[in-house]
Amino acid sequence: MAAHHGTLIIGASQAGVQLACSLRDMDYDEPITLVGADRRLPYQRPPLSKALLAGAVAPESLELRSSDFFATRKIDVRPGERVVAVDPETRVAVTASGAELSYGRLALTTGARTRELSIPGSRLRGICGLRDVDDALALRKRLGGAERLVVIGGGFIGLEVAATARRRGMDVTVVTRDDRLMGRAVGEATSEFFRGAHTRRGIDLRFGTTPIEFLDDGNGRVQAVVLSDETVLRADVVVAGIGVTPDVELAAALGLKVDNGVVVDEFGVASDRSTVAAGDCACYPCPVSNGTGHMRFESVNTAIEQAKSAASSIVGSPRPYRANPWFWSDQFDLKLQVAGLLHGYDQMVVRGDPAAEQFSALYYRQGRLVAGECVNSARDFMAVKSALAAGRSAPPEGVTDISVSLKSLFAGAAPTPVAAR
Ligand code: NAP
Repeated sequence: MAAHHGTLIIGASQAGVQLACSLRDMDYDEPITLVGADRRLPYQRPPLSKALLAGAVAPESLELRSSDFFATRKIDVRPGERVVAVDPETRVAVTASGAELSYGRLALTTGARTRELSIPGSRLRGICGLRDVDDALALRKRLGGAERLVVIGGGFIGLEVAATARRRGMDVTVVTRDDRLMGRAVGEATSEFFRGAHTRRGIDLRFGTTPIEFLDDGNGRVQAVVLSDETVLRADVVVAGIGVTPDVELAAALGLKVDNGVVVDEFGVASDRSTVAAGDCACYPCPVSNGTGHMRFESVNTAIEQAKSAASSIVGSPRPYRANPWFWSDQFDLKLQVAGLLHGYDQMVVRGDPAAEQFSALYYRQGRLVAGECVNSARDFMAVKSALAAGRSAPPEGVTDISVSLKSLFAGAAPTPVAAR
């Protein structure tokens, strides 16, 4: 019988790949098996709603690592395999194809699944979601012959897809039930800026409403969307970007504590004190969460840093994950970069000029910087990110002077004129 050693990582995306690589970087010399349901080698997801959808890059260019890399580092990658059951007593996982994988330590990097609309007509052709490369390629093809796109959801997927389609000359309407854009992730000033920016670029935004039915064109294709406010929107293609739910089926079957994700401690260790979890599926301790003490944060950087922490637990020299998330979104020519968590902020100051489409919204709690949202202001973003990582701040009164670099203000150094950087 195979010895119980080695690590089995279930979920081969950003967190899973990072976990495998970090284990090797930490001189872990036991077998590593990385199992992923997607038939492709693990790839980056951020370009799916942008460059891949626009046809600017090929799917192969998105691979996180080559097959040679995995082979050299003795990481046994198994794309196209879905783990369907895990027995924690015998420490054997079974895949949909019947393969049995024994392990010593188990890592869950199962990610999240897209939410789906289940209203009349939601199975019609032309109604799409977007989570993987195949979804993006299928959507690209559909957009090719279409004129009218209706996007459901005013979050990142919705707005990035809307911008990509609008750039192709399509008529685009975004329908969201919230009263502002990206409401889950950014503050009101940034939402308001994007409302104006998308409207100026010709996108029709509908707030506070939701689809209640999709109408058939008589041939099984979507023809229109009926909204809860009784509006009917003609549509050749519909994209639903209405959020994700963490993939916790295996965790729940294993008896692990699950609450909006696999609940882990600051070292990525789950309630059985052995399994680790990282990335979109993991719910981790965060002092500034929305009052629950735990949160999930869906971003590439969070997946990477949590995976490093989880790997350190497996090799026996645990390093905590300390939440200092950052992420970005590209919509038209607007680059939004966000660092930090704005929960519980009590002051916001704007640096720069939203009307010129270049500004930063800086958030403070009790006089200390906690987050920044930067639009077309990459230097501000770098300064905010570094300041948060180093625990530095600068009084809110001084940061609105755009003639002085944020970097020098946060460093507490003599203010440096922006032009001199
Ligand atoms: P999201 O950012 O959570 O946004 C979903 C939006 O859909 C929210 O505005 C939500 O409103 C709205 N919504 C939900 N149900 C609805 C309904 N029935 N009718 C109308 N609107 C509805 O999720 P997402 O944009 O789908 O993104 C999915 C995942 O991809 C996330 O993990 C996201 O972080 C990731 N992603 C990230 C980026 C990036 O960071 N640049 C880009 C693309 C994707 P409520 O708030 O009212 O629920």
